[in-house]
Amino acid sequence: MASPLSETATEPLALTETFRQLPALFHENATPTPTKRPQLLRLNRALADDIGFDAGALTGPDGIATLAGNRTPADVTPLAMAYAGHQFGNLVPTLGDGRAVLLGERVDTAGVRRDIQLKGAGITPFSRTGDGRAALGPVLREYIVSEAMAGLGVPTTRALAATSTGENVLRPTPEPGAILTRVATSHIRVGTFEYAAKRGETEAVQALADYVIERHYPEIADAEAPYRALIEAVAERTGTLIANWLLVGFIHGVMNTDNVSIAGETLDYGPCAFMDTYDPATVYSSIDSGGRYAYNQQPRVGLWNLSRFAECLLPLLADDQDEAVSQAKEALDAYGNAFETAYHGGLVTKIGLAECHEGDVELASNLLQTMAEQSVDFTLGFRYLADAAHAVDSTNDTNVRALFADPTAFDGWATRWRERLATETRGFNARRNAMRAVNPAFIPRNHRVQQVIDAATNGDLEPLNELLAVVSQPFDDHPNRAHYAEPPAENEKITRTFCGT
Ligand code: AMP
Ligand code: MG
Repeated sequence: MASPLSETATEPLALTETFRQLPALFHENATPTPTKRPQLLRLNRALADDIGFDAGALTGPDGIATLAGNRTPADVTPLAMAYAGHQFGNLVPTLGDGRAVLLGERVDTAGVRRDIQLKGAGITPFSRTGDGRAALGPVLREYIVSEAMAGLGVPTTRALAATSTGENVLRPTPEPGAILTRVATSHIRVGTFEYAAKRGETEAVQALADYVIERHYPEIADAEAPYRALIEAVAERTGTLIANWLLVGFIHGVMNTDNVSIAGETLDYGPCAFMDTYDPATVYSSIDSGGRYAYNQQPRVGLWNLSRFAECLLPLLADDQDEAVSQAKEALDAYGNAFETAYHGGLVTKIGLAECHEGDVELASNLLQTMAEQSVDFTLGFRYLADAAHAVDSTNDTNVRALFADPTAFDGWATRWRERLATETRGFNARRNAMRAVNPAFIPRNHRVQQVIDAATNGDLEPLNELLAVVSQPFDDHPNRAHYAEPPAENEKITRTFCGT
């Protein structure tokens, strides 16, 4: 008879489950639907190591079968999480995991509990009219962009594996199907709270809040007013997150409350995109006709979403409604403060200042404004600026200048910039290195992502592997793959992205 220990040793995805202990309304059992001819397209070995999975076992028959939904890991019962959500401002009381199944959780090598989820694993009790499946394109897009975010140091869900199913999905024409194995510090969303709150289930809201505090914010467990502290803590992480998005030119595209992680991670990569040319009003998502989730609307929408979260917690804050509302409002101030600190601090760092003095944020903002007027590539603009960051010598300005439609527009700004640089003690090399550590050379540009998807659809995974190699180390130069840093040519530009569900 095999001992429990040896069974664990042969389980490629040894998991535990704590989310299941929450009140029953938060979850429904959901077994992944088996797939015909699963094939592992990509395994994230570094992430597997971090989580404490054996990459060799994951690429073995049991591992692949598990990642494809054809086998359930030992000792856990997969589930679909229930959640509601405000979609484009309108409440939908029941959404839930319609095409995702939470297999279980795993405490990683750093002691952090991570969710292991299969996205595209077949229908669940929340599938409504959907097929519960995912197409290869969106799976690879999420894999690439989430790993790029991780490489950029922005909190995000991660991609552990992409598996093709050997089956087609109709979108609306047949496309190859795939499954993403997604890892998150949890998949709890603002919408998870809304699900219980909109049903008047205050005890369930409280149980969820206690769970979230224990799992994500243990530092506030002993706070005098823990639920108010929870609003503050979530607001702080979310504000910082959205500042980080702006600093790398990221547009989430569907910031509905069901896509807002309570742990402050970027969650749900649908019609998301990185900007090429800097234009603050940029919208890529084909369904966002009003520009609600445009690049420069994200800070405002973040607060709107958190206000929906705070509303869920009102009954836990105070018996008196007015008192509860005033506490919630005060707690939400943490959002704007965190956003400004991170955004302003990030901007001055991007232009190479070691300290932030009065006028510095304005100086950086002036550059952004000029970049917008001059149609400058956001990523390259800052990357090339690092090479030019000498306090007196402007001979290395050539590359950055050339990005401006009228290069003299850069010169005017650069004069003021150099005056400010000259007041700092840091030398050119140290400044340049510091700038290169925050201004990436590589982002997953839309046209590259599309090329990767097209190639993978034809069975060629090499472009996927190449793009992942650069975007997961985006601050390095990668001389042999420098072309991945280039903006799209006119005929390569992609201006619309799709949810692709
Ligand atoms: P998303 O746009 O990915 O945030 O999804 C919004 C909602 O639609 C969630 O409840 C999803 O589970 C559900 N959904 C999206 N695609 C599908 C699908 N193919 N089958 C079933 N449900 C889906
Ligand atoms: Mg979603």
